[in-house]
Amino acid sequence: MKHNKTLPGDNRAIMGAIAAASLDALITIDYDGNIVEFSPVAESMFGYQRNEVLGKPVSEVVIPPRLRQAHSEGMERYHRQGTGPVINTRVEVPAIRRSGEEFPAELTVVPLEIPEGKFFTAFVRDITELKAQQEATENARKAAEEANEAKSRFLAHMSHELRSPLTTVLGAIDILKDAGLDAEQQRFASMAQNSGESLLELISDILEFSRIESGQLELENKDTDLRPLIDTVIDEANNKAQRKSIHLGLYVDPEMPTCVSCDPKRIRQILVNLIDNAIKFTDSGAVGLYVEVIAVRDEKIRLRFQVVDTGIGIDEQQIGTIFEEFAQVDESDATDYPGTGLGLAIVKLIAKLMNGAVSVDSQPGKGSEFTVDLDMRIVSPSAAQPVLNTPLSALMLVDQPIIADILVRQLSDLGVKTLARQRLSCLSNGPARKADLILVGLMGKQITAKTLKQAIRATALNPQKLCVLTPPGPVNEEACALLKQVGGHLTLPTAINELHAVTTKLSCSTHLAGNPLEASLPPKRILLAEDSPTNQAVLTSILRSGEYDVSAVANGKEAVKAVAQHDFDLVLMDLRMPEMDGNEATRAIRQLAKPKCQVRIVALTANALQQDIDRCLAAGMDDYIIKPIKKAALLEIVARHLDEVAATV
Ligand code: ADP
Repeated sequence: MKHNKTLPGDNRAIMGAIAAASLDALITIDYDGNIVEFSPVAESMFGYQRNEVLGKPVSEVVIPPRLRQAHSEGMERYHRQGTGPVINTRVEVPAIRRSGEEFPAELTVVPLEIPEGKFFTAFVRDITELKAQQEATENARKAAEEANEAKSRFLAHMSHELRSPLTTVLGAIDILKDAGLDAEQQRFASMAQNSGESLLELISDILEFSRIESGQLELENKDTDLRPLIDTVIDEANNKAQRKSIHLGLYVDPEMPTCVSCDPKRIRQILVNLIDNAIKFTDSGAVGLYVEVIAVRDEKIRLRFQVVDTGIGIDEQQIGTIFEEFAQVDESDATDYPGTGLGLAIVKLIAKLMNGAVSVDSQPGKGSEFTVDLDMRIVSPSAAQPVLNTPLSALMLVDQPIIADILVRQLSDLGVKTLARQRLSCLSNGPARKADLILVGLMGKQITAKTLKQAIRATALNPQKLCVLTPPGPVNEEACALLKQVGGHLTLPTAINELHAVTTKLSCSTHLAGNPLEASLPPKRILLAEDSPTNQAVLTSILRSGEYDVSAVANGKEAVKAVAQHDFDLVLMDLRMPEMDGNEATRAIRQLAKPKCQVRIVALTANALQQDIDRCLAAGMDDYIIKPIKKAALLEIVARHLDEVAATV
């Protein structure tokens, strides 16, 4: 293919072809501003024939009279400077038709230099329709916005107007309730009060929601220490949790700055909403709040607030809708979980205002996990955290997984390596003896003050290395007595500095004093005389779980022989045995020389008859335990007698 330096053929022919194909009107003028070309589109747009306008000044043909002066000044400037505001860019200008009608046009001017001279071609587009469309869209948008604002204003106004009389109604009911109503009247007054309070909650939520949605909510930016804010939220939630016997846990990342710039009121609102829901939808177990630093960049920080619960959970189909306003999984009026269905919608709106993200993970019947990530600016970094001088190891017995998880994290932040277990039987194992301290949660399930007390006795552990954790609120008498014996006591949820103080105290006292019982004494020796092999196996296993050294024999004769030949701290004696029964064997043991004859003997009897009991006590037994034998009861009675023996030595 051949390349030419100039356009091939006739310039005019090419321009004519372009002009005919273009959707814009093309008007070419010469250096002086006179029209040299006027395209067919220009003819229909402006209402002139090409022949009529050729040679005429363009300003007189297409430019409204009031702008002609500016046009000629523009031309002159271009001639002087070689540039101008309409050259090679798109501008919007008014144009005029032959009829005198002005219309909006979009204009681009391209300069053209050819051997014949200097020309300009204007591309003109009639944008009358486009402008009309834009205006209509803009008007519709404004109208919608105004209608929306009016709706929100109306809602906000109405909610406010409703609240005032309602608070009066509630106040009046309160006074009435103290006015000596009978039981029936009290019931009605309480009903009215409960309904009134739900209504007030609904109105507050609507007010809040409409305020945020209508854009009336301005976020504050305040220097804030989030820790006291979180503590207050947890304190308040504690009352609600206690009423439902739910445990509450709190974990705060030690890396959390001491001061961030944020809107504390809104963060509080998010946390209260999520925690209230978690407590509401949980009937047993625990609710935990985790606050963690997930990213730090320069002075920006991303914090994750996570609320987990062991509640009813949310099924897969519902999970997508719960953040919508008025969405409730159980929409029946008779629901066990009253609410407005606005809480999560509000949480989502606030998080969005803060450029944050909200998500949920849930399993029906297992529990839910709500996560809110928010960006904040660091004002001052995290404070130095308490850590222990020497690394410690702890055994932790807490039978509530959320609470256990939080405690393990806190202890790990302090530098304590923790073995988490759920059963008290672990107190008799090696790790309990090796651990620098033992934390035991009295959560009201398997581990109670009573069972812990028995376990301490049974295992002869030094109670001074024990820290007992109790839920907030009063403790029962038994727990009260126990707390006096142990080395430390903390109330859940535990603060990290409390945990630090108690771990330091416990590890110091046990290290300094040591524990003679644990360190030097071999396990206590127990003789079990029982003819049934299954009973023998079960009882031996229970006793071994209490770290006792157990020997077993199958009749009275062997029992007497064993006591005579070895040293036992305690004998557990079945009454009915072949060859020699328990009573006879006891009498024989009591005939042995001192100190063999003084060994403690506890009867194992299937009979609760007083005469049988009298008979075994008369034979010289110290105590009895009635079959079927429960583990805790056996360990308790054994521990009690061994304690008494130890006390008399
Ligand atoms: P409500 O006032 O009903 O609690 P929300 O907007 O706070 O309204 O929650 C919407 C719905 O999401 C609730 O009605 C409930 O069905 C479900 N939901 C919220 N939080 C939990 C949770 N922790 N466990 C189970 N379901 C939840």
